Amino acid sequence: MNIEQIRGLFPVLHQEVHGKPLIYFDNAATTQKPQAVLDALAGYYSHDNSNIHRGAHALADRATRYYEETREAVRAFIGAKEAEEIIFTKGTTEGINLVAQTFGRKFIGKGDEIIISTLEHHSNIVPWQMLCEEKEAVLRIIPINEAGEIIFEEFEKLLSPKTKLVSIVHASNALGTINPVKEVIDAAHAVGAKVLLDGAQSTSHLEIDVQELDCDFLAFSAHKIYGPTGLGVLYGKREVLEAMPPFLGGGEMIKEVTFEKTTYNDIPFKFEAGTPNIADVIAFKASLDFVNALGKPAIKAHEDALLAHADELTREIKGFIPVGTAKDKVAVLSFNINGMHPFDVGQMLDAKGIAVRTGHHCTQPLMKRFGIEGTVRASFSVYNTKSEIEKLAMGIAQIARFKNK
Ligand code: PMP
Repeated sequence: MNIEQIRGLFPVLHQEVHGKPLIYFDNAATTQKPQAVLDALAGYYSHDNSNIHRGAHALADRATRYYEETREAVRAFIGAKEAEEIIFTKGTTEGINLVAQTFGRKFIGKGDEIIISTLEHHSNIVPWQMLCEEKEAVLRIIPINEAGEIIFEEFEKLLSPKTKLVSIVHASNALGTINPVKEVIDAAHAVGAKVLLDGAQSTSHLEIDVQELDCDFLAFSAHKIYGPTGLGVLYGKREVLEAMPPFLGGGEMIKEVTFEKTTYNDIPFKFEAGTPNIADVIAFKASLDFVNALGKPAIKAHEDALLAHADELTREIKGFIPVGTAKDKVAVLSFNINGMHPFDVGQMLDAKGIAVRTGHHCTQPLMKRFGIEGTVRASFSVYNTKSEIEKLAMGIAQIARFKNK
């Protein structure tokens, strides 16, 4: 891959911050967008803006066609069997809440159990707590080891006929750990439980085939795959989606409405009430085209090389404390500097033009497990370079020297 050429596709990267060239290492929070995505957004509003599905005119036909083309592109991107199994949402958070409020409300009852892991983002904790409170169901948590990996034998011990759902993160946003999701899915299915994968951090790095994995649901966000914000995808198996009641009520999700009774539309429309995020859905196709043109294996190989380089350069720095040392990781370097608050480290890196995230990363129970308040997180993407990694390592070394003489 020609990284300089790739960087040329991302206008936002070419700027100075505090008088220094921007080094963007906050990719796990959100990735930057290539020009093709920006053009697709402007193109839609300049030429095609129209409401979809019901229009009797050329613009509505065009907008509908482009919108549905993205649905088909998403289907192919995750290896789903049918485009109808792809539901557009606001993001991973909404996808998980949709499953909790529909599948959960219908199929999870008193005394039933839901399993999540210690690694979860708050968006894969809180919806289940809300559901458990309402239904008097029980939330069980898979513990992790010091490296930040789930302890599989402990997971197996939690499984029972009471388990109705296992909802687990594919790749951790805070530590980068990649979970053994195929094994998790097979073990959960063996007791009759359904499985939801939180793919927020995996879909841009790892090849995903939902049919091969056999997950029942996969939720992810477009904005972490070089796409627009405010848009996500919930994949669900046809038979599961069809058995679920609707989520939001309104236009588009109905077949027929009378004051006495409403019948609901077929999937996916049953779950897409109201005017959807048409422009961002259409532009999202340009993001998927970008990833497909490079190929995820090549993207992952590049990011892995960056992480290995970062590991090598930071390992010996006095006072550098890595957090999360799983064998199988996406390119996330989570760390602390002895004697310093992560926020202060983040501010000092920002002064050098280096954008990182600091804090609990919406994983407070995980931070608690490690007995820390938070970490500094540098997360790498396809447009990052080895020389940027070297600047990061140099910055960390300079900051660490203050407190660790
Ligand atoms: N899960 C994980 C693992 C995430 O990293 C994120 C985003 N930080 C989410 C869920 C929530 O995604 P969104 O805010 O796009 O809904």
